Amino acid sequence: MTSSFSNLSLAEPLARAVAEMGYESMTPIQEQAIPVVLTGQDVMGAAQTGTGKTAAFSLPLLQRLLKHESSSTSPARHPVRALVLLPTRELADQVAQQIALYAKYTKLRSTVVFGGMDMKPQTLELKKGVEILVATPGRLLDHIEAKNAVLNQVEYVVLDEADRMLDIGFLPDLQRILSYLPKQRTTLLFSATFSPEIKRLAGSYLQNPVTIEVARPNETASTVEQHFYSAGDDDKRRAIHQVLKSRGIKQAFIFVNSKLGCARLARSLEREGLKTTALHGDKSQDERLKALDAFKNGDVDLLVCTDVAARGLDIKDVPAVFNFDVPFNAEDYVHRIGRTGRAGASGLAVTLVSGSDARLVADIEKLLKTRIEIEAIEYDSERPQGRFNDGRRVWHEAEERASAPRAGHGERAGRSRGGFRPAPVSRDPFFDKPYEASAQAPAPGWEAAARPVRSSTSPNIKPRRKVAALFKAPAAPEPVREN
Ligand code: AMP
Repeated sequence: MTSSFSNLSLAEPLARAVAEMGYESMTPIQEQAIPVVLTGQDVMGAAQTGTGKTAAFSLPLLQRLLKHESSSTSPARHPVRALVLLPTRELADQVAQQIALYAKYTKLRSTVVFGGMDMKPQTLELKKGVEILVATPGRLLDHIEAKNAVLNQVEYVVLDEADRMLDIGFLPDLQRILSYLPKQRTTLLFSATFSPEIKRLAGSYLQNPVTIEVARPNETASTVEQHFYSAGDDDKRRAIHQVLKSRGIKQAFIFVNSKLGCARLARSLEREGLKTTALHGDKSQDERLKALDAFKNGDVDLLVCTDVAARGLDIKDVPAVFNFDVPFNAEDYVHRIGRTGRAGASGLAVTLVSGSDARLVADIEKLLKTRIEIEAIEYDSERPQGRFNDGRRVWHEAEERASAPRAGHGERAGRSRGGFRPAPVSRDPFFDKPYEASAQAPAPGWEAAARPVRSSTSPNIKPRRKVAALFKAPAAPEPVREN
């Protein structure tokens, strides 16, 4: 049974902001964490993204900082009192936006600093003085070294998405940052999972923390309908088209395991008539924010992303998440599908499983303690002739046989386990470059195109010379086609 925010006796400016956000009752992490943080104790919280944990730590923190409110314009009256550290720029930006909303009726100031942006505007904000500083570790260290950020009056530190910060390799940066802070402080650590590394981090920096575990670590939201469909690498895009169409889904996240695969898949889907953009680490900060806005505004229907780029994205009501690639790390499965079915809404998570993914699926089974059934997809149309993959190349078995040199079996040694020899890879320089935006007009919605269309592209995708046929066999036999 969840309780109302009114039970908390939040100060009027905070209660007003919460009411304005339309929150009716507290989420489980809020119910448990807010009273503890209000007492000033350290917290070790296990909560998956989308559980409302930002409000869970920021509301009580703001409440405790209200005593420092000052209308003075002097920077000296606005030292940093609370530091919130996050692993990615997007996450830092979103948390900062949420904190600014909760603090909007107070005199407390907040700002955010992250890499990939000019330091000057951030420096100006810092120099004016802020009570709440949201930051990614690397950029914060830059500001500390430049003496733009002074942290000797910090009373609260939040290590959010701590497991991801360690995954990214931020431990040395975190250790340095924490060494600049007063020993006497409250430390709040939030992590999707409590791995041994996280426990070690907590052991070093938290004092008698209260452990809060709202959902068992690695538990997936019950509101997410999960399917694992068998789909060879060449069938995965077709599977996406089929699921979107048969379920009438408008928007989805599509997760891939690599930056290269991300740009490539976005481009292929775009060519097939789906309004798609890519979000990965090689994109500039400006491009990332634009991609995110385009998705939020509905200008883009599909957001193809890597795990690091997507972690913690606060986009609500995403009807579906596709795992185009089964994640290498089973815990990322939980994070990925946490993008859908948030805050009680129902969601669909579709994982496309190819023959070589058995071990990764077994890892997910182990983590979720559930048996996973691999289902077959029913396609509306017959499978097209030939082999189609993610846009790099197309290889046709019959044609390969016809064009193969007449040789003994010894010359087939290069074939893969499945008995097929992959087509030679001719690299397309496009895939060696960071993703580029173009100024094209937005494409019509994918809904209008049951079959792939080639005529329009979104502003995020450059037109290409050659286009692959997805549902149609090529007219002329070409053993290898570069796409
Ligand atoms: P978070 O897990 O902090 O990223 O929050 C996920 C989303 O849930 C954000 O968009 C919040 O605005 C929203 N949210 C947070 N608390 C509540 C609440 N008590 N009721 C409804 N929505 C909430």
